[in-house]
Amino acid sequence: MNTTPVTMAPASEVGRPEFGRDDVDALADDLVRILGPRGVSALPRALTRASKDGSGMSPILTAQQPLGRVDLVCYPKSISQVPAVVRAAVRRGVPVTTRGKGTGNYGQVVPRFGGLVMDTTSLAAIVEVGDGSITAEAGARMITLEQAAWDTGQQLWMYPSTAQSTLGGFLAGGSAGTGTIVHGRNHMGFVAALDVVYAHEDAEIVCLTGDDAQPLVHTYGVAGVIARATVRLEPLQPWRCVYTSFPDHHAAFGAAMEVRDVSPAPRLCSADGAEISSHLPSDEGIPAGRASLRAIVDAAVVDEVEAIVQRHGGRVEIVRDGLQNTMRLSTISYNHPTWWLQKAQPDRWFHMEVQGDALVERLDEVEAVYEGGMLHLEVGHGRMFGMLNGIYRDPDTVYAGVPELEKLGVGVHSPHQSYVDLDADRIKAIAARTDPQGLLNPGRWLS
Ligand SMILES: Cc1cc2nc3c(=O)[nH]c(=O)nc-3n(C[C@H](O)[C@H](O)[C@H](O)COP(=O)(O)OP(=O)(O)OC[C@H]3O[C@@H](n4cnc5c(N)ncnc54)[C@H](O)[C@@H]3O)c2cc1C
Repeated sequence: MNTTPVTMAPASEVGRPEFGRDDVDALADDLVRILGPRGVSALPRALTRASKDGSGMSPILTAQQPLGRVDLVCYPKSISQVPAVVRAAVRRGVPVTTRGKGTGNYGQVVPRFGGLVMDTTSLAAIVEVGDGSITAEAGARMITLEQAAWDTGQQLWMYPSTAQSTLGGFLAGGSAGTGTIVHGRNHMGFVAALDVVYAHEDAEIVCLTGDDAQPLVHTYGVAGVIARATVRLEPLQPWRCVYTSFPDHHAAFGAAMEVRDVSPAPRLCSADGAEISSHLPSDEGIPAGRASLRAIVDAAVVDEVEAIVQRHGGRVEIVRDGLQNTMRLSTISYNHPTWWLQKAQPDRWFHMEVQGDALVERLDEVEAVYEGGMLHLEVGHGRMFGMLNGIYRDPDTVYAGVPELEKLGVGVHSPHQSYVDLDADRIKAIAARTDPQGLLNPGRWLS
């Protein structure tokens, strides 16, 4: 069930490129010529900002800080500048880490060996909203894409709970979110086309479509810079945001298993026990002292969902509709409940990403693996998925839980490492061709 071995390795030295201060200074001059003086910065505040991501959610990664610090950050404003920036960096032998909004959880946007960070957030144009697809620049925000899709009676196949994050960052570093129940994880089939830039001395934009684009997805920017992408839309459904509550999380999670099977399928279904729920943003749909199940479901199945909830001893608190409400519900799904928990009680909690129906079927045993264990549950594509939160003591305790969880039939993915975490050998083989000098976001390989 596990997709990759859960590694305990600290930040790696594998692939450290050789470059020096002179190379960085020469690159800075090149970039001023390409982007203008406002398009490049070496100011300490800009460098600090460009060297951080959401990995503060992991106490293990936090203890390894700084995971890296960049020497230079640049801000291309047009797609045509992207290959020019990459060409300059390759000719100077300086590594390039491409950055979206910097919300990734695992340190993969932290420039491990310094060099250049290319901040893509100014590349935010929506190029075209077609029938069944949307084309946008890499720095466009997922929330903006969803809005543009709704304006034409369509919706994104999927978007993450960090809806402010970028299209490029989600495709390169994300894996799941609203829409995953129907379409699965890791963007399979989501991407129709990618415009990418490889780390070659004569780099230009390369257009990849269909099956040729998929291998570049979820590669953390190590095999190519995504400059622009076309992703799939589908007809907009009449969504309703159903907030329900239960006396305890056994009841809520049992109901979630049944909500998974309604047809048409929900777009999202998340559930928490009373303690995690109490740390979510205040909402009349999430009453104090009760477990919470929140779902985005088609209007046609609201009554069916209510019947399921009642059968499990719960009640419907409120039903809402509209884009803002679906977004609001999405932003308290996936890793966000853990984030709220950690915000309320800093330095107390860690989490593991877990999956499998055993999460619900063997809930007490699963939560007992870690001291203070509390599961945040998501209905996944065909099987349950979640974040198992526990009280943090030390790395050994965290990793000692992994075989215990696996014995219970639970798949585990560790959010405490900054390596390429899926299909590393396949991606390494692609990168050998697209980035022969190993300059794209180096430091992501274990060996
Ligand atoms: C509280 C919280 C909740 C989250 N919830 C979710 C969730 O529901 N689902 C989910 O999948 N993730 C989630 N994440 C992880 C992350 O926020 C998302 O995956 C997000 O979509 C990443 O986008 P970003 O713009 O912030 O990317 P960044 O963090 O900037 O980058 C992520 C990775 O992609 C690479 N990259 C960025 N842009 C490009 C580009 N143009 N070309 C090539 N490589 C690029 C970076 O180098 C890095 O390796 C969550 C994180 C937090 C902190």
